[in-house]
Amino acid sequence: MPLTIAAIQSGTDPKGPLPPGAFHRTLEEQLTCPKCHVTYNLIADYDESMGRFFEEESRKFILLLKKTIQRGHDHNHQLTHLETNGVVVRAVGEVIELPRPKPEETPLDGWTYHPRHAK
Ligand SMILES: [Zn+2]
Repeated sequence: MPLTIAAIQSGTDPKGPLPPGAFHRTLEEQLTCPKCHVTYNLIADYDESMGRFFEEESRKFILLLKKTIQRGHDHNHQLTHLETNGVVVRAVGEVIELPRPKPEETPLDGWTYHPRHAK
């Protein structure tokens, strides 16, 4: 099954189905917008997320989600449920298509990408 990772804004409900998979796991990492305090929880298929190479595989996915969340800051983070297949990011429950992030567009400094239990 191709890997899909969802990012759901803290304090909001999913806008639609979670990524395919019988069981889901909320990853230990959260993505916090570098410009404000909006935080997204990352959710993936349980089995995929426990795989040996998940950390490696998920890097590109998380980068795409970071870029999208960063861009969403200018729109009040209206898109609360995002998901990516590692190529494109889509907003679940929305009719809009998100533009594909440009490869040269790197996230701003100041990202907190840390284990949730870290202080
Ligand atoms: Zn923000």
